[in-house]
Amino acid sequence: MHISEPYKLIILFSVLILSCFSSELLSMNKKSGGTSRKFIWKIAWSTRPVKSKDEIKQRISQAKAIGFNAIALPGIQKRWSDEIVSVGKEKHIEVYYVIFPHSGVSQKYEPHEYNLLPNSQHGGEPLPEDIGKVIDKKPKPFPCFIREEAVLSAQKDVDFAIKKGYTGIAFDLFGYDNFHGCYCASCNKARKKYLQEHPGMDKKEADHRFSEECIIKFYTKVISYAKSINPEIKTTCHIYPAFLPNILYGNHLPVDYCGQTAAWFFKPYWDLNKIKKYSEIIVKNEAAYHSNSIGVAMVGFYKNVWGETGKSPQRLKNEVETIKKAGVKGIMISELSSILSCPEIIQVLKNELK
Ligand SMILES: [Zn+2]
Repeated sequence: MHISEPYKLIILFSVLILSCFSSELLSMNKKSGGTSRKFIWKIAWSTRPVKSKDEIKQRISQAKAIGFNAIALPGIQKRWSDEIVSVGKEKHIEVYYVIFPHSGVSQKYEPHEYNLLPNSQHGGEPLPEDIGKVIDKKPKPFPCFIREEAVLSAQKDVDFAIKKGYTGIAFDLFGYDNFHGCYCASCNKARKKYLQEHPGMDKKEADHRFSEECIIKFYTKVISYAKSINPEIKTTCHIYPAFLPNILYGNHLPVDYCGQTAAWFFKPYWDLNKIKKYSEIIVKNEAAYHSNSIGVAMVGFYKNVWGETGKSPQRLKNEVETIKKAGVKGIMISELSSILSCPEIIQVLKNELK
């Protein structure tokens, strides 16, 4: 076949471009494959109190030295805001202000659920044999965050966080004690309306979708408000308590870094195959509803909390490596003080968070 001179030039040029492009793709593949994977966003949750400004500086510096680039200090955030924000800037670590649910009404369960046993996993996914038999019983049930007063209260927290100069806001405990919904009078009224508006939907399915949509609406209202005041404010969350109708629903929420449990705190520790499966879903579906959302895997590590003696260094290493291999870009580890009390755990995380 005869090819004219100009066409030869075009073909030669195309081959050159294609070969450059494919070598670029190859190097991207290498970067994202195997052990070369890295977390880009790494947050430590620190819940224990401090007694002085020096202790705050020490704790944030220790988190940074381990490899974290973000931190949330819910137990001390209100009182020590100025110090936290100032040390965060000095150490180049993002600081998040945690918003908790507030409202005048406690969550209500379905009548038969008051007789169920307490969940051994404390808000985490109940053991398979316990599903339907336990709820997350507390001395006082969680507040019903669906009410308008809860949104207003969260917006006040947002105002405070922005005024103080926090990098972002974090959501915690916005879920249901009974793992599926609140049955207080106002929720029941709204649920009835939802069922009427979805006549073809199975009743149980409609019940679950209503509960899920309540959480999504709450986040959407609070985050829209936060971004309207400061478009640069970052947002994260930890999905808790577990929502059994749709465990990994977090990607429906308009958060920048969505923390979903990939390895819970308590024994029996999760099977590595389960950690792998959840991690793969977290990364695969991270931007399904919000294109800029990054999926974050939450890993629990407690020592001397609720009877938990602490995972072994090898166990924690296996968990974090499994998450990393799945390609998850963000990691959320709680709890920092427990980590800091174990030199071998610190070393594992220093290697894994590099
Ligand atoms: Zn309610």
